Amino acid sequence: MSLPPDRLDRFARHIVLPEIGGAGQLALSEAHVVLVGLGGIGSPALQYLAGAGVGKLTLIDDDRVDVSNLQRQTIYREGDSGELKVELAERWLENFDKQIEVNAIALRIEAATAAPLFEGAHLVLDGSDNFATRLAVSDACVARAVPLVSAAVGRFQGQVAAFAGHLPGESCYRCFVGDAFDAEDCDSCAEDGMLGAMAGWTGTFAALQAIRVLLMGKATLGDPQWGQLHVLDGLEPSLRTMRIAKDPACRGCSGINVR
Ligand SMILES: [Zn+2]
Repeated sequence: MSLPPDRLDRFARHIVLPEIGGAGQLALSEAHVVLVGLGGIGSPALQYLAGAGVGKLTLIDDDRVDVSNLQRQTIYREGDSGELKVELAERWLENFDKQIEVNAIALRIEAATAAPLFEGAHLVLDGSDNFATRLAVSDACVARAVPLVSAAVGRFQGQVAAFAGHLPGESCYRCFVGDAFDAEDCDSCAEDGMLGAMAGWTGTFAALQAIRVLLMGKATLGDPQWGQLHVLDGLEPSLRTMRIAKDPACRGCSGINVR
């Protein structure tokens, strides 16, 4: 199987890269990514995943556009205030590439509701803005054996990591942050502030790491780098990488990894 001529033209700059090639582009066209959170990380991640030719996108967010979002959430405009982000994102995708299959869900993710939504997905990219959601997303990914790219940003720092806690020896997001953040009262974005371009850097970097995961076994770029946390510092600027070890007592992934 190969891509039709119009798609070969559209993705020519990918296909010419030896690290992606025709086989990699075909894999992207067959991929299903669930995007949780359509804010400062989700907006650019959506744009670059769509631009990369990911064939199916499920969008999950219950929030509406506020004028204070426009400083970093790149797919929205002034007239969008008060509108549901998932509906606007779906419209953005329709205008950008009609061949992308889109499933838009206006929902706040909770532990019980997340897992069925991830069924059959190749990857979840989480750009949500609070620990409770990120932990619920992580637990659901482990339960459904779906890889997770988790991304967060605040002030001048971004964090991006790919997790496969369902695999032996691989950590999950909960191994990283522990159980202390399950409550919903530890958000700090609104109080702390954030440079808009930091959200852009973090979101596009998350899209890059997502593409690595999607190309695993399909192209040489496909090294998922499980459990490596990349810390993006906008003040220096610098990029540091550290390894997140699997926590044998983790509530999210311990005991699940003997499939
Ligand atoms: Zn874990």
